[in-house]
Amino acid sequence: MAKSTNPDCKQCRREGCKLFLKGERCLTKCSFDKRPVVPGQHGTARKKISEYGLQLREKQKVKKAYNLLERQFRLYYEKATRSKEGTGWAMLKMIEMRLDNVVYRMGIGSSRTESRQIVNHGHITVNGKKVNIPSYQVKVGDVIAIKESKQNLEMFASLKGLKVNPPKWLEFNTESLTGKVLAEPVREDIDLNIKEHLIVEYYSR
Ligand code: SF4
Repeated sequence: MAKSTNPDCKQCRREGCKLFLKGERCLTKCSFDKRPVVPGQHGTARKKISEYGLQLREKQKVKKAYNLLERQFRLYYEKATRSKEGTGWAMLKMIEMRLDNVVYRMGIGSSRTESRQIVNHGHITVNGKKVNIPSYQVKVGDVIAIKESKQNLEMFASLKGLKVNPPKWLEFNTESLTGKVLAEPVREDIDLNIKEHLIVEYYSR
């Protein structure tokens, strides 16, 4: 069986789950489906993992899935500790409501990395104004759109009329290439298997 040397795919194998880092390929030719073991010579060996190891891996998994730096991730945790909601969920919700993630979840961009580039390049407007900050926190009622002058670019024109399947807290119209934040996400809307209490334990050690 072919061994993946793709760095993104190795990250999925390292974290033991699909992180959907490669866009379309994750749905069609996923190497994790073929070889779901930790990379390296001893990948198939069973190792007992410590409590700390579990916490660390969970944190790394979410950081990689959302493509965040350690500094950014810790900041979300620190903000979440001041939230009235549980720290773990408050942290995940802030990450889920980043503009780059919202753009990805609406179907604009095939991976979070691509969606972040789309935001970085100034192709996205929020309530009619260009926003090129991937970490921008969206709010309920915000209208997210592909900038009108960019809608003819191949990557966006190809979205026209496509059937997309955003989570129920978002909508996206592929005719007008405009979407809306209908509500805040709820825990079930997070599509990755995350044990956020382990991340909270990691940072509160
Ligand atoms: Fe590679 Fe995507 Fe599969 Fe992860 S989910 S192993 S990035 S193809």
